[in-house]
Amino acid sequence: MLRREKKLERELAELRIKKLIEMSEKIKFEDYDLSRRYIILARKIAMKYRVKIPKELRNFCKKCFYPYRHDRIRVRIKKSRVIITCLNCGNVKRVPIRNRR
Ligand SMILES: [Zn+2]
Repeated sequence: MLRREKKLERELAELRIKKLIEMSEKIKFEDYDLSRRYIILARKIAMKYRVKIPKELRNFCKKCFYPYRHDRIRVRIKKSRVIITCLNCGNVKRVPIRNRR
């Protein structure tokens, strides 16, 4: 019973996270700071309910939480890795490129 409730709670949390990140993406060119606040909120929910933010939604800087925006990041490709530099705080993220067949 309790376990089931917890599962439901987590599913709800995941939905809220998804929604918040969608909202963040939608307004990131109009209000970058509000967009960032949505990300922070999504992270708070993720931590509280111990759920992971899905990889495809992690389109933000994990240091300053500003969402990635083409004019606020620098993207380089080096040794089959994409290197994303956040121009807001200077944090660097390296993403391996998957081989396409
Ligand atoms: Zn940053």
